[in-house]
Amino acid sequence: MADLSGALSTLNIGSGNESNNNEEEEAVTNAEIISTVAICAACGKEGSGDSMNTCNKCDLVKYCNAACKKKHKSKHKKKCERRVAELYDKKLFKEPPLPEDCPICMLPLPLAVGESTFESCCGKIICMGCIYAMVEREGAKNICAFCRTPGGESDEETIRRNKKLMDKGSAYACYWLAGYYARGIMGMPQDWAKANELYLKAGELGCVEAYFNLGSSYYNGDGVEIDKERAMHYFELAAMNGSVHARYNLGVIEGQAGNPQRACKHFILAARAGYEEALDAVKEGFRSGIITKDEYANTLRAYQKSQDEMKSEMRDKAEKKQRSFVIR
Ligand SMILES: [Zn+2]
Ligand SMILES: [Zn+2]
Ligand SMILES: [Zn+2]
Ligand SMILES: [Zn+2]
Repeated sequence: MADLSGALSTLNIGSGNESNNNEEEEAVTNAEIISTVAICAACGKEGSGDSMNTCNKCDLVKYCNAACKKKHKSKHKKKCERRVAELYDKKLFKEPPLPEDCPICMLPLPLAVGESTFESCCGKIICMGCIYAMVEREGAKNICAFCRTPGGESDEETIRRNKKLMDKGSAYACYWLAGYYARGIMGMPQDWAKANELYLKAGELGCVEAYFNLGSSYYNGDGVEIDKERAMHYFELAAMNGSVHARYNLGVIEGQAGNPQRACKHFILAARAGYEEALDAVKEGFRSGIITKDEYANTLRAYQKSQDEMKSEMRDKAEKKQRSFVIR
């Protein structure tokens, strides 16, 4: 849906190294973390780990009391910030959950928007392959391929159904409605403020692409002031929960910020999920020596596997047919 402007389309993978973390400072003894008998990081006294005062941001230090904690605060600050960032990155670069399955063919939903559709009757997302299969089987009927409810007679009817689902807490209903407002279609006025409000709600209800769209709004300044930090925040939320589009954008943003290693980490994850553009970026990362041969080979294998899992005869047929028509 909302895509990023051309400014983002160029990749800037340089040869810079990632910032050198001071390894010697990193040497936090494991004993500090694991043992139940802990040592106060400020005064060095031993105490029972469970009853001690811990840093409420990181998992590295314990203190005998609040006074020790306070005394140690400025000394601990740097190490603490680094650890917090490290813990966050661990979450950020974890392999995200798989895409949801189409409820009819039970194959993972295609990554491209437009290769599946939202049904305002039952709130399901159906892949185009299953729609195509139904049409081939029973001819073109205006019914839902999943619950067989006749399609809305008008845009107003579809919107009414959509809102009803939204009231029941359907994330996708929120997401789709947001899209109507964003584009000003289906008889809705173009209203970015409303769209962004619904993207946020949809994201909170579990629609990852909604967070991606909200990130794009902050990136492009659609209905909000441009705010790159917030854009990153929502892209990260989306990516951690499985949006390959958000993951890809993070890669591009990190590349432009001169962080080729981080960029490639994002591209690898998106490529592993079967996202073609990300695989192209991984290839480039390999050519420039940022990605090793092994990493590249592993990514390629995972990419192929994800692609195969999303493929079906009916989806291929639907895609061919779609290409032969002018898309609505
Ligand atoms: Zn102490
Ligand atoms: Zn801390
Ligand atoms: Zn399907
Ligand atoms: Zn339905």
